[in-house]
Amino acid sequence: MSIEKTEAVVLRAVNYRDSSKIVTLYTRRYGKMSAIAKGARNPKSKFGSLLQPLNYLQIVFYRRESRQLQYISSSEFVRYFKSLTSDMDRLSVAMALVEIVNRVMHDEEENEKIFQLLVDSLAVLDMPETSPENVFIHFGLHMAIELGFAPAFRSCLRCGNRIDLEKERRVCYVIEKGGPLCEKCAVSINIDFLLSGSALPILESLVRLSPAVAAKAKIEPALRNELRDFVFVYLKRHSGSLKELKSLQFMAASIPG
Ligand SMILES: [Zn+2]
Repeated sequence: MSIEKTEAVVLRAVNYRDSSKIVTLYTRRYGKMSAIAKGARNPKSKFGSLLQPLNYLQIVFYRRESRQLQYISSSEFVRYFKSLTSDMDRLSVAMALVEIVNRVMHDEEENEKIFQLLVDSLAVLDMPETSPENVFIHFGLHMAIELGFAPAFRSCLRCGNRIDLEKERRVCYVIEKGGPLCEKCAVSINIDFLLSGSALPILESLVRLSPAVAAKAKIEPALRNELRDFVFVYLKRHSGSLKELKSLQFMAASIPG
């Protein structure tokens, strides 16, 4: 057994017995991990009250590889996201991000880029004048890239020709194969997902942007909804472990399957 220290975002916390908590964390060094904090609900526990979803903490824990539940001995804030608790739209998107990480990532599968994406996205959501929906779109796109199923936007999956965005108002996108089809090639195929021609260059540019810059991008509301639905469906079909997100229901009455 060793004593370890790592940064962590709390994904989930449930009460356990009289005074303890069991938490699911996404950590910088160990990936997703479950841990018990004994006595965390005791009013005298200094660290127990910090073990709430969305909190970005530095934790100290006793680690034993063979054990499914690690023991947390202390925690402190790395950064406190103040606005996330007072703004419903921001809170919902933040909860959606931790829900996605919780469902998609496996235990002890370390991925520092995803950890950084998560804390950067939460930090941006906490800032004024950023679009929560843009943060969601950017996050989903980058999760897909980090998990190894990056979508392509530029050329036709079948013939390789560049997609003519001026000519084609709607573009057929094959979610399973992660790419669009040109007008000619799309004729012989059952339509999978239709995207506006203008959605493709926006998605392509979001791939290169940081969460902070993406969150301030001006996108028309209708197009933003379309991008959000596309990213969610894309992530859902590729990861296989996402169903509906409770936290996202505020954003859309029905997101297509
Ligand atoms: Zn083609």
